[in-house]
Amino acid sequence: MDAIVAGGGISGLSLALSLHQAGIGVRVYEAVADLAPRGVGINLQPTAVRELTELGLGDALARIGIATRQLSYFNKLGQLISSEPRGLSAGYRWPQYSIHRGQLQLLLLEAVLQRIGGENFRGGLRLTDFEQRGDRVCTRFRDSATGAEWQDEADILIGADGIHSAVRRQLYPAEGDPRYAQQILWRAAVDAELFLGGHTMIIAGHFHQRVIAYPIGRAATNGKQLTNWICQMTVPQAAPPREDWNRLVSKEKVCAAFAGWRFPWLEMHSLIEQSPEIYEFPLVDRDPVAAWSFGRVTLIGDAAHPMQPIGGQAGSQAIIDARALTKALLGASDVIEALKSYDRERRPAMSDITLRNRGFGPEAAMQLVEDRAPDGFERIEDVISRQELDSIANSFSTAAGLDVEAVNGRRSFVRPLRETTIVL
Ligand SMILES: Cc1cc2nc3c(=O)[nH]c(=O)nc-3n(C[C@H](O)[C@H](O)[C@H](O)COP(=O)(O)OP(=O)(O)OC[C@H]3O[C@@H](n4cnc5c(N)ncnc54)[C@H](O)[C@@H]3O)c2cc1C
Repeated sequence: MDAIVAGGGISGLSLALSLHQAGIGVRVYEAVADLAPRGVGINLQPTAVRELTELGLGDALARIGIATRQLSYFNKLGQLISSEPRGLSAGYRWPQYSIHRGQLQLLLLEAVLQRIGGENFRGGLRLTDFEQRGDRVCTRFRDSATGAEWQDEADILIGADGIHSAVRRQLYPAEGDPRYAQQILWRAAVDAELFLGGHTMIIAGHFHQRVIAYPIGRAATNGKQLTNWICQMTVPQAAPPREDWNRLVSKEKVCAAFAGWRFPWLEMHSLIEQSPEIYEFPLVDRDPVAAWSFGRVTLIGDAAHPMQPIGGQAGSQAIIDARALTKALLGASDVIEALKSYDRERRPAMSDITLRNRGFGPEAAMQLVEDRAPDGFERIEDVISRQELDSIANSFSTAAGLDVEAVNGRRSFVRPLRETTIVL
């Protein structure tokens, strides 16, 4: 069996490694000619770290990421709402890593090039369309430099081509643009002093205005950490800017809204001022669809379930998609049935998470606290009970497949590999 993967992002590269591990031939086509370490922070939940570890990347991840031990929620005044242990501290057998998205992509790419060979990873070729002919899928690509057309065919095609997926567009031609949630995110990564011990992720504020910050790696400067921050706020607009991970915004614009957010452990004004570049991104997702798999074609990652970045799910679920799809292909005698079975297993849960994230997902408690105590509180127990906090957190965790016992106890999707050292 052979597969064409359109898109060399987190999902496409993870899928290539996974298919290769399972002995399935794979060729990856990526629209960008020379992948650079784009993006800022992303979170890999233990369930996804388990999969990358079983793909032989555990040591490499530990070298570039930060093992997150705690997630703390605060109100807009910096008063603690709740704290929960994460990763190994929560009892998982694998850590949670907060990591630079671009470094993660290049790590995966390095492994892909080593394992499937440069001839099977083609940068600078954008998928334009495909056609299912008999027992093959014929694909066409456009060379971004020359405009020349390139064709290839395989037993299956997987669209791993992100929120503007060309594969999805052909399957759902009437779908249109992503859905704007009336909020803007400003994001950056900057070398900064350690806060709250150096392994904590914080979220402060409420639904309409909040700050998220967490360390994602070693800094160039001694004693500091590369720190990811996001300032998010409601900005109603009829037509938001098209989402572009490279769109820059001025420090003045972000400071005007967030300079006053000063906590004893984090000072937003200086973080914003020190940041070399700040990116602006509208909060978008898409409505869940009725099917991902159509004959010999399917979708994974953001092409399948573009969701609001709440609860640190998008990257992790993309990796689980890759593994679940590989497992389905390994277990079936008929590839069309395998793609259907992958769809049945993954789509309902991802549709659920996409909709939960519109309602603030696991962060819903922050808005309850804002509604009940907008001027702050003396004792959090007087505002929200432990039971209410746990019920919000546990309900999301179960829906996202993050229960500790479930992650630790489930069987491997694909037989684990011996750890392989990746040269970075
Ligand atoms: C440049 C960039 C920066 C990002 N930065 C962050 C971040 O800082 N934090 C965060 O949480 N999430 C970020 N994301 C999104 C995050 O990577 C995804 O939500 C998640 O990891 C799922 O990954 P994915 O591989 O499905 O999609 P993506 O990561 O979006 O990858 C899709 C890939 O497909 C390629 N592609 C698109 N169209 C075609 C086509 N027609 N043919 C071939 N290839 C195509 C794209 O160039 C891209 O490499 C970023 C995405 C991109 C593309």
